[in-house]
Amino acid sequence: EDQRLRLPPWLKRTIPTGKNYSRLKEQLRNLNLHTVCEEARCPNIGECWGGGEHGTATATIMLMGDTCTRGCRFCSVKTSRAPPPLDPKEPINTATAIASWGLDYVVLTSVDRDDLPDGGSNHFAETVREIKRQNGDILVECLVPDFKGDLEQVKVIADCGLDVYAHNIETVESLTPFVRDRRAKYRQSLATLEAAKKFRPELITKSSIMLGLGETDAEIEQTMTDLRTAAVDCVTLGQYMQPTKRHLKVVEYVTPEKYAYWEKVGNEMGFLYVASGPLVRSSYKAGEFFIASILK
Ligand code: SF4
Ligand code: SF4
Repeated sequence: EDQRLRLPPWLKRTIPTGKNYSRLKEQLRNLNLHTVCEEARCPNIGECWGGGEHGTATATIMLMGDTCTRGCRFCSVKTSRAPPPLDPKEPINTATAIASWGLDYVVLTSVDRDDLPDGGSNHFAETVREIKRQNGDILVECLVPDFKGDLEQVKVIADCGLDVYAHNIETVESLTPFVRDRRAKYRQSLATLEAAKKFRPELITKSSIMLGLGETDAEIEQTMTDLRTAAVDCVTLGQYMQPTKRHLKVVEYVTPEKYAYWEKVGNEMGFLYVASGPLVRSSYKAGEFFIASILK
């Protein structure tokens, strides 16, 4: 018997449209660049690639392959203790493709590579430096692993020339051991975010929380407070969606009204921006939010 909750109407997907979206899609065809947006069939692709009021188009690129050394219970990325080695040409090839694509804001993310001595930090950093060398106008956000709490790797990223340092706390403290891989720790994640800000106070830091896993309101509020205490600038909140039957079940579909409430709470806490909504993902319209927040 399928005991999964019914999908509420506010999670129905819409078909992407818009001139900017079509242009980027057309250009992408010849670039041999794989976006998370397309591969995950993200419902926000029209909005992110289209850009909004400020016309700031955002896309997410995955570095370091498709195989993760961790196995979080909410994530459908495949797992292996020994993923294939890194492609040493990836930083330059990816940067070249991104620079010629016509994007305004790129989110670079990756699987966790606990098998590598530096966790892949230098590979990330090299990609950012190369993007900035080829086109200094592109804003770059890195959504990075916790590097097992190794602050030396956090520093490599913080110093590479990126604009936004992001690492996802994913869920509240009590659920962390059930939701994330056992090597991921709530306090460790906070510590890496706090360290990134200390290394480079001018960096914008960012984190994301998934809702609907059984957390209480008090716990959500506590997590947001913990992020602010770690000097995190921006937060996003969105609905957890079960990727396959083998993954964690959705406990609750949080209503749009509740997301609006969390947005208000977050703004009152002093976050630079809060993106909160059922379909919000950590990179949701990141460029638009970034530009709007610096114009504030
Ligand atoms: Fe791409 Fe992230 Fe936007 Fe989805 S939310 S379309 S993955 S940038
Ligand atoms: Fe997925 Fe990231 Fe967890 Fe790896 S570390 S399983 S990519 S969420």
